[in-house]
Amino acid sequence: MSAAEPELPRPTIALPARPTRWRGLWALPLLLSLALSVSVMVWLRSAEKRELDEQRQELISDALTLQSEVGSSLAFENERLGALVKLIALHDVTPAGFAGHAEVVEGLKRFWISLTWLDGKNRIVAHAAASPAEPGEREQSAAGLSAHLATPLAGGQGRLVGRYSPGEMLSHNVPWWLARKYDVKMIDSFDNVIATAAEPLTSSGGRQSYRVSLDPTLEGTWLELTARNPVVPWYRTLPVALVGIFMLMVGVATLMLRRQMRAVSMAEKAWRTEAAWRGAMEDSLTVGLRARALDGRMLYVNRAFENIVGYSAEELVGQMPPMPYWPPDAIAETMQRLQRNLAGQAPREGYEARWRHRDGRMIDVMQFEAPLVDASGKQIGWMGSVLDITERKQSEERERRQVEALANNARLTMLGEIASTLAHELNQPLTAIVSYNAGAINYLKRQPQPDSVLSGALQRLGEQAAHAGSIVQRIREFLTRRTPRREACDINGLVRDALKLMAREMKRRDVHVGFQAAAALPEVRADRVLIEQIVINLVRNAADALAACSGERRIEVESGVDRERNEVFIAVADNGKGLGDLSVEQLCSPFFSTKPEGMGMGLAICRSIVEAHQGRFTAGAAKLGGANFTVWLPLTSNREENP
Ligand code: ADP
Repeated sequence: MSAAEPELPRPTIALPARPTRWRGLWALPLLLSLALSVSVMVWLRSAEKRELDEQRQELISDALTLQSEVGSSLAFENERLGALVKLIALHDVTPAGFAGHAEVVEGLKRFWISLTWLDGKNRIVAHAAASPAEPGEREQSAAGLSAHLATPLAGGQGRLVGRYSPGEMLSHNVPWWLARKYDVKMIDSFDNVIATAAEPLTSSGGRQSYRVSLDPTLEGTWLELTARNPVVPWYRTLPVALVGIFMLMVGVATLMLRRQMRAVSMAEKAWRTEAAWRGAMEDSLTVGLRARALDGRMLYVNRAFENIVGYSAEELVGQMPPMPYWPPDAIAETMQRLQRNLAGQAPREGYEARWRHRDGRMIDVMQFEAPLVDASGKQIGWMGSVLDITERKQSEERERRQVEALANNARLTMLGEIASTLAHELNQPLTAIVSYNAGAINYLKRQPQPDSVLSGALQRLGEQAAHAGSIVQRIREFLTRRTPRREACDINGLVRDALKLMAREMKRRDVHVGFQAAAALPEVRADRVLIEQIVINLVRNAADALAACSGERRIEVESGVDRERNEVFIAVADNGKGLGDLSVEQLCSPFFSTKPEGMGMGLAICRSIVEAHQGRFTAGAAKLGGANFTVWLPLTSNREENP
């Protein structure tokens, strides 16, 4: 894998999408129950119809049977009357013996109320009525409606009339089981009830009935049978009530199910959103995340982690240590660190490590470990966050080297300045020594007997003094040999670079540094390194002055251009105690310092550098309240000097 290809294909955890057609699943039990209920009702309805049909068939058949029974019973009575008529014709029955005749007695025992023998002129010849034992009820029913049968006597000599109660006749003919099953009535053509058998029904609503005509035995008379047990309508049966209760319960259950499913679906939706959020967040993180089981087995890595080490999640998840990104020459050491981490001894503030990217380059990482707990709060491993600090480390290293180089440079400049000062200061005494020495030698030479030893010594003294002078001169030349290397400088960029180098130190010293960069500042031809050194010196001096301040510590750096004087300036101001009465001359004199460990060369060097650039160096009070040092660099003279 090449470094230009850090993005690895990542397996996405696809959440199974719930099919939309399953969304209405909650209604399925209700629909099935509804279908079951409908089929039960259809079945009940057809059962009711079948029962009605059966009952009707039975009713018709029973009605027809009763019709024939009544018909034959009346035919029998007619026949008996006919037999009696024959006996009268044969004079076997006399008017006197009529009531006692066996045939008459039998008839009265059956259901006749009375039997009357009428002559041709409708006068009663003989009359027999029912015995006093029966008449009670028979007379009672006879008190209502009665019917009669009449048979003419031979030769038009009269007729025989038998009166009977139709109700009695019916009771006589309707068997008990039929009377329990049906309400049996005899009715006339005008729907008047002539007679009933057994207890009549109070209401016939909903019951089946059937009429048969008693023609020709009894003209204009009908026999009506009404079923005593009505067929219960299907909707009033127990199953319907049970189905109703069942449907009610299913309805409530469905409602609860729907609510539950809604709650579940909402929870699922929330979970999906959260999972998507979490996924997006994890993927957008620049921090690598890694979950490990308690035994060190890799459980999870995020995309950033994959990018840091160059291995995909599939390659890493499930792996036991040593991991493929551990540097081969530090396996034992890394294993030891892992054991320490798994024992819960990882430093809370994090720790640095070196890994090897898949492409072979070494990477610096910062790691933080935290316990990984499951939903029940039990620790199941360790969650690590990993920061790739390779860049930072490299830039730190670069910065360190730069600061070191600058410090070396500053030391050299300072040495040059010291040497120059020393040379300047020592030059006069040395010159004086040399001239006094020359005078002494001349004086000795003029003596009559010059002391050769003394003159030799004075000679060597002169030589040594001259040698000392040349050594000082040489050292000065060596150390100040460097003449400013002028180049076109962007002053704002230069100041920014210098402040960047100081940033860490300023943060440590709790000093806020601001920079007001002038827009469209013309370029200045100057030695970038030396000017940077001035800025660093001034900022450091300001920070030293602020060290004693208890309040807010502020340094304001400002760049600008003075069009009139044709100069660019860099001003460094602070809100410290200020300069007091000290003049710029005093401040810039070599070895002047008010600090216990101060060398007193910083400002002297600054001024030398500025002057080497034909610029000016001024000091005064700042608007902030402290000191203000300004470096003025000419624009035109530079151009003239360095076309
Ligand atoms: P050193 O820093 O070694 O003392 P410098 O030449 O850099 O030497 O400074 C000389 C003196 O000038 C300092 O000791 C201090 O008294 C004074 N000085 C320099 N900068 C400031 C400032 N920003 N505020 C107050 N005094 C300052």
